[in-house]
Amino acid sequence: MNARPFWIAQALAQEAQAPAPALREATRADLCIVGGGFTGLWTAILAKQARPALDVVLLEADVCGAGASGRNGGCVLTWSTKFFTLRRLYGEAEAVRLVQASEQAVLDIEAFCRDHAIDCEFRRDGTLYTASAPAQIGASDAVMGALQACGISSWHRLPVAEVQRRAGSRQHLEGWFSPLAASVQPGKLVRGLRRVALELGVRLHEGTPMVDIAPGSPAMVRTPHGSVAADRVVVAINAWMAGRFREFERSIAIVSSDMVITEPAPQSLEASGLNGGITVLDSRTFVHYYRSTADGRLMFGKGGNTFAYGGRMLPVFDQPSPCREALARSLHAFIPQLAGVPLAASWNGASDRSVTGLPFFGRLRGTANVFYGFGYSGNGVGPSRMGGEILCALALGRDDAWTRSPLVRGPLGMFPPEPIRYLGSIVVRNAIRRKEAAEDSGRTPRALDRRLAQFAAAAGKADKQ
Ligand SMILES: Cc1cc2nc3c(=O)[nH]c(=O)nc-3n(C[C@H](O)[C@H](O)[C@H](O)COP(=O)(O)OP(=O)(O)OC[C@H]3O[C@@H](n4cnc5c(N)ncnc54)[C@H](O)[C@@H]3O)c2cc1C
Repeated sequence: MNARPFWIAQALAQEAQAPAPALREATRADLCIVGGGFTGLWTAILAKQARPALDVVLLEADVCGAGASGRNGGCVLTWSTKFFTLRRLYGEAEAVRLVQASEQAVLDIEAFCRDHAIDCEFRRDGTLYTASAPAQIGASDAVMGALQACGISSWHRLPVAEVQRRAGSRQHLEGWFSPLAASVQPGKLVRGLRRVALELGVRLHEGTPMVDIAPGSPAMVRTPHGSVAADRVVVAINAWMAGRFREFERSIAIVSSDMVITEPAPQSLEASGLNGGITVLDSRTFVHYYRSTADGRLMFGKGGNTFAYGGRMLPVFDQPSPCREALARSLHAFIPQLAGVPLAASWNGASDRSVTGLPFFGRLRGTANVFYGFGYSGNGVGPSRMGGEILCALALGRDDAWTRSPLVRGPLGMFPPEPIRYLGSIVVRNAIRRKEAAEDSGRTPRALDRRLAQFAAAAGKADKQ
């Protein structure tokens, strides 16, 4: 078995939770949740908080946190910079509601961690969206103006010297700061949620993959050695959805996000000026993002390296990052003070990129009581708390702003069929790489590369993919 990615390995090594037993019987439940990442765990927790007597079973194929939730960058961000997409798809009133809800999610996660003593290094020190090449200057101006016009902007532009000081790097040429963002050790957060779910009485089975679901009332979730007959089912298996259900084959593209982390070097970080839990993201299509950790490391990531044919998970997603050296070069270009500090680890993972760049929720085709939610597109640490609220509301049969939200109308677009999607992704990815390399070195990108790169921009900015 491959070594687990850094965060989840660190969290597992530091905790005292025993693995939950695999399911080896036929059982009955009010609610069965499949997938033990942020989405599944928040759904379970919120459902139990709302109705303590509800019998909730959660099935996880591996251990809770084995997926994206235990290996992401830990940037807890909002949907404010997605305002244009939200407004185009859902109208202004819902867009405003969702931006505000995404900001509330950051505060809710913080309060939840405090109330339940989850020590996950949650630091609400804000975020900086910057330009790291002249071509990126002005990229955020329009959306910041629109947020301001609607009276919902938490952002302000900082003087360049202040951007460089807070980001610990002279690479940044402009920057917008919002205090409504945080960073977190995601492995510790997901394992903390697991602990609270167990305390609330959720019946957890790890090492228990769902093999299939037979629709009906109750629906039957089958596993290799057992089954759960449940009145309601929530499927929260993220990047595994497309491989598992044909109806979603074209609704997401599976794209890697790759990252490296240094050994602790608090003094070198101090020398760069970067401290606290601020997250820094530049404005290229496949953004660079970085932050320090509570124990004085620097984590640096970039998305958009590996694309999976047919939306299937690939073995490489569980291996060290194939772009370790390129990431290290970029890290050192941003923060030269860390050039002599060894890397502790590299890893990557699969992000579920939807056509809109937003997650979608709904009811599985041909069922009345099986709900799903995925497609966070590289921005799911904060929004998966909203995902939990949506799926909890659907599973409990509520009529509220979440169940009436257009977010629950399923996927709002399809990628082209294979092999066009895969080949197209590679052509566009390579064009973006050439365009950004040219911009980084002050050259004018080729017109064809600029045109091809617009395909990614048209589908919505790729966040951290
Ligand atoms: C490398 C990387 C970096 C990222 N960085 C950031 C970031 O900095 N900020 C941010 O906001 N977002 C980031 N994201 C996205 C974010 O991590 C995800 O959107 C979020 O964790 C999704 O949570 P989830 O619970 O829906 O999915 P997951 O955490 O993937 O959980 C799904 C679970 O389902 C389980 N499962 C799969 N199949 C089955 C089955 N058949 N039966 C039972 N269980 C099954 C898996 O084992 C897994 O534990 C990143 C993602 C990646 C991959």
